[in-house]
Amino acid sequence: MQRLWGRKVNDLAFREFLQILEFVAFKKGKTLGYVDQWYPSSKTCNHCKYVLESLPLDVRRWRCPSCQTVNDRDGNAANNIKEAGSLSLAVGDVRPSQTAMAA
Ligand SMILES: [Zn+2]
Repeated sequence: MQRLWGRKVNDLAFREFLQILEFVAFKKGKTLGYVDQWYPSSKTCNHCKYVLESLPLDVRRWRCPSCQTVNDRDGNAANNIKEAGSLSLAVGDVRPSQTAMAA
């Protein structure tokens, strides 16, 4: 089916996935945020926001030419996406939930 319809099927399946995600978020009282698909999350240094011109897929770690921080490609991208998502929702800093401590 994908061969006949090509990318359209993938887009439809992904749209359906997003609808399910939106429904579940709404049902649980959560807000779903989106990040621009062209946001350079891998190429942007999470520490100083310097953006590389290019970053080949086989490069898993890179040193920022501006602040000299060594960035893990996936971890850096995840942090950038988390920040971009929280900014798009105007909720500020997003931190993982912490276990409540009994006093
Ligand atoms: Zn940097």
